Amino acid sequence: MKLLVKNIGIKKLIVGAAVVAGILIASTSGVGEDPGSYRFSRTPGVTAGGYPLPLTGEVIATDTVVVKREGAEVVSYPEIYVPGRETLGEDEMRILCIGSGNPDLRIGQAATGWAVELGNGEKFVFDIGGGTVGNLWSLGASPAEFDKLFITHLHLDHVGGIFGMFDAMGWSRNVPLQVWGPSGATEENGTAAFVENVQKASSWHIESKTGIAPSEGMTMVAHEFDYYNFTEEEPNQLIYNENGVKVYAFPVIHTIAGSVGYRLEWNGMSMAFSGDTEPSTLVAQQSKGVDVFIHEAFISAEAFAEKKSVTMEIAENVVDGAHTTAGTLGQLFEIAQPVLGVATHYSLDDDLIDPFFKEVEEIYEGPVAIAQDMMVINVTPDQIVTRMVMPDELSWPEPASELEEKPEIGELSDQERPEWITNTRIY
Ligand SMILES: [Zn+2]
Ligand SMILES: [Zn+2]
Repeated sequence: MKLLVKNIGIKKLIVGAAVVAGILIASTSGVGEDPGSYRFSRTPGVTAGGYPLPLTGEVIATDTVVVKREGAEVVSYPEIYVPGRETLGEDEMRILCIGSGNPDLRIGQAATGWAVELGNGEKFVFDIGGGTVGNLWSLGASPAEFDKLFITHLHLDHVGGIFGMFDAMGWSRNVPLQVWGPSGATEENGTAAFVENVQKASSWHIESKTGIAPSEGMTMVAHEFDYYNFTEEEPNQLIYNENGVKVYAFPVIHTIAGSVGYRLEWNGMSMAFSGDTEPSTLVAQQSKGVDVFIHEAFISAEAFAEKKSVTMEIAENVVDGAHTTAGTLGQLFEIAQPVLGVATHYSLDDDLIDPFFKEVEEIYEGPVAIAQDMMVINVTPDQIVTRMVMPDELSWPEPASELEEKPEIGELSDQERPEWITNTRIY
């Protein structure tokens, strides 16, 4: 109960701040009211344990504001994050959940994906599961700016949205999509082969649009790192090191060879993302002391068997054989001691919130949140603030940045339809 009281106290503080921020927002936008969102249309309410119900516009967390150092001044944010209406501070990191789910795709829960924006202008995407791309483009950044994708593993709930991200015919991204990921046990099961196959599978798409719009963006560059370079002595690899940003990969325990997690460090701040994994001390140690530790969590085998109408045997194979449950997540957070622990990949339902916190809190007392789609976490040297995003659901993507050379449009394809079909065209 102690933690819940803390939660309510902080919420009051934010509601108070929103009034002031609301004035600010109105004066900078100059257009109508804030966009509405069906994601917030569920009737607000709380669980028996006092946590907000999913998708009611409230963060499901023990604490929505976490002060990182004693004496730090708490800066208030607007109650809801509206993309395009807040400037990211130079020493600030913004972490956005574009998909909190798993293979069970739902309107209210896309598969897995996270976006990270840094105060130095760098932007990254970690995993791009089905349903995440619309969320990503609603964040108010140009698709051209999100050209760096890091893949934890090649399960489709983590890469199934890649076609939507790849699709950039002329008006969004005129540079290749850069994709980082591990090799596999065989060449065909590595990231490079996956990237090549996505491009091959897009052959008709590219052929049909060539001559109509520039196609420079319809290429991908794979940055595959060797999964077998991880050793007991050196369990991580620095795979990105530019503009003061370091991204390390580390192996995780998830099905076959070729599953990793990532740790991003910049400007004294950090986040780690486990991808899918069984509980592992290696993952906890590689994520030690980060500001935000995003770790997968799965509902219990009992709940999975009931909700999915499968036998306990199958449920145990899925849950215990490849994933992490709330109780063991508490153990991981206890080892890693993040400033904020975030559970993701967790199937949301009204009756699955209290059991999660009950199990975690038996072991771990620090701040914990359960991810929902369009949850945003602002990290500064002083504090971590977690809120919900209210995107404009009919937003237009920001245009691509100007290139020095105009992109080529190219020649129209000669793979023409039979003439008799064309002759049925109405003018
Ligand atoms: Zn998954
Ligand atoms: Zn997986």
